[in-house]
Amino acid sequence: MPRLVADRPVLHMTSELGKVMAAARAREQAGERILHLERGEPDFDTPAHIVEALCTAARGGDTHYPDQRGVMALREALVEKLARENGIRCETDDVVLTNGGTHGLFLVFQSLLAAGDEVLVLSPHWMAIPKLVGFVQGARYRSLPCYLDLLEGRLDRAAWKARLEQAIEPSTRGIYLNTPNNPTGAVLSKDQLAVIAEVATARDLWVVSDEAYEHLLFDDARHISIASLPGMAERTVSVFTLSKSYAMTGWRVGYVVSPPAMRPVMGPLLAFYTTHGVFPSVQRAALAAVTGSQAEVDRMRRAYEERRNLLLEGLKGCPAVVVPPPRGAFYAFADVSAARQGRDIWELVDEWLAFGVAVLPGTAFGPEFGDRVRLSLATRREDVADAASLIRHRTSAAGVR
Ligand code: PMP
Repeated sequence: MPRLVADRPVLHMTSELGKVMAAARAREQAGERILHLERGEPDFDTPAHIVEALCTAARGGDTHYPDQRGVMALREALVEKLARENGIRCETDDVVLTNGGTHGLFLVFQSLLAAGDEVLVLSPHWMAIPKLVGFVQGARYRSLPCYLDLLEGRLDRAAWKARLEQAIEPSTRGIYLNTPNNPTGAVLSKDQLAVIAEVATARDLWVVSDEAYEHLLFDDARHISIASLPGMAERTVSVFTLSKSYAMTGWRVGYVVSPPAMRPVMGPLLAFYTTHGVFPSVQRAALAAVTGSQAEVDRMRRAYEERRNLLLEGLKGCPAVVVPPPRGAFYAFADVSAARQGRDIWELVDEWLAFGVAVLPGTAFGPEFGDRVRLSLATRREDVADAASLIRHRTSAAGVR
């Protein structure tokens, strides 16, 4: 037998989400009711006008090889959207359409990193980041915990700057950030981003800004794109997706905005080395999403906010599970150190699954987060309320103080 799987660490990484989902499915097959707070998948259908635009385009024959960078009309609409909403000024040549944000991040790390390079990943971070960095053989990532402290106001400007500066090593080439943040719901303020900008400029680093949740904001939170800060457009690559804002996870469509210096790389990376672009009819649908009514985006945003409020209300004063109120995205990153009672976080995840609540262990988001679990709000409001009540009662029955 030949060796069928190469000996590369990235090919042997496991998925915490896959593990929890399989365990949840097994219980459901055995007839148990499971409340799904593990997945980050909007439970809404894609708005009808977007689906219609796909059908019209496909019927009209928009089914051939696409322009490798993306349909021009869509790139023009995105240039306009980026200027209006994000304060990012760019040209159509600086925008490429990708098969979702994951593919966008893959291309970006492929173009920015080489063997021996390190990327500083602000954490807790989305689970896929170590894998996406790991596909560049010999590149490394280092987690820098900060979002919880920024969310809860524990880092003033000087302390935040010092933490960043101390984390940078000679091999550090760039910083990856994600605001609104998965999994904490932190939304970085202009001043918090300005500190990253100052450090990146002083140390001559690039910045990858993952803005997957740009429209999912609660209370008075505002989304700021770091590329809009003075001098940052030339060193920032911004990654967007339609997955979350428009409930379009299955469509696989997103886009990357990069400095003009990357033009010779981004097009060929799309064309020759990965997917040869995005299905043109899907791009027509994306055009309808970006240029059409945004009422559905706001309706979904309000639904997530309502669920967040239900979760916070349901767990208020619960000694075992402390939830820092998220300001965006659709997750909460709860402190379960009291409920864990010294056990491995996976034991707590299994215990919660046994009473019907599926969540992800904090260690999926960085090795430092063994005292946390992520609760997803991308599930029915009744299920969020039931989950909060189950968690409260089961942990208090277990005598957690
Ligand atoms: N970035 C973050 C922070 C995410 O949470 C996700 C999806 N969970 C993505 C990027 C990528 O999403 P997609 O590939 O569906 O666009």
